[in-house]
Amino acid sequence: MDGRIRELEIELKDLPRRKALEMARLNGVSADLKAAKEGQEYANQRVRNYEADAQALKDKIQQLRTTQAGLKSNREYQQYSTQIDLVSHDLETTENNQIAAMDELPSAQSRIDEAQARYDAEKGGVDAFCAEIDERIAMVESELAERRAERVEKAKAVSDPKFMLYYERLRTKRWPVVAPLTHAGVCDGCHLVQPPSVGQLADANARNGAEGRPQSIVACTMCGRILYR
Ligand SMILES: [Zn+2]
Repeated sequence: MDGRIRELEIELKDLPRRKALEMARLNGVSADLKAAKEGQEYANQRVRNYEADAQALKDKIQQLRTTQAGLKSNREYQQYSTQIDLVSHDLETTENNQIAAMDELPSAQSRIDEAQARYDAEKGGVDAFCAEIDERIAMVESELAERRAERVEKAKAVSDPKFMLYYERLRTKRWPVVAPLTHAGVCDGCHLVQPPSVGQLADANARNGAEGRPQSIVACTMCGRILYR
């Protein structure tokens, strides 16, 4: 019974770990998606910046033209034309940059689409896996509670408290606590050959047990496991 309880306890510790690993993997995929969205935001921002720059240059040209129209001297007029040419050249460069920045938008979007598709696919799998784990945890917890209750009942059958005391003390250090003594007189827990007296005691215990008489603790001289035949 304790063997089963042990198995269940180990599984109960392991299940949340497996779940956490899957969740961590999904978080990685989610981080990729977030990065793709940030990449798109950055690309959009670049386009908006060039757009604003272009608008400012257009306004500037408009302003220069308005002033130029009111000028009287040829020399001044000529100076303004040169300045307008320079700003127009800047505008052309800015608009080219804007177009180049806009060219990057579709690939930014497709990166998001890919990351989103991967996330959706992974999420479905991880959700199903986690639901299975949760179901298993509930089953293990319920069986564990049942087994522990049964154990309390079975322990009542052990009349001599020193047997339980000995057993419980050993249980945390040695597993299994109870081991058969082989015909060759070897402890099946640690494989040490026992002195003949241990074999005699174990045989006496077996006889006493069969006849309903009290038994004693026969322990391995090396590991302390309770030995039986
Ligand atoms: Zn032993």
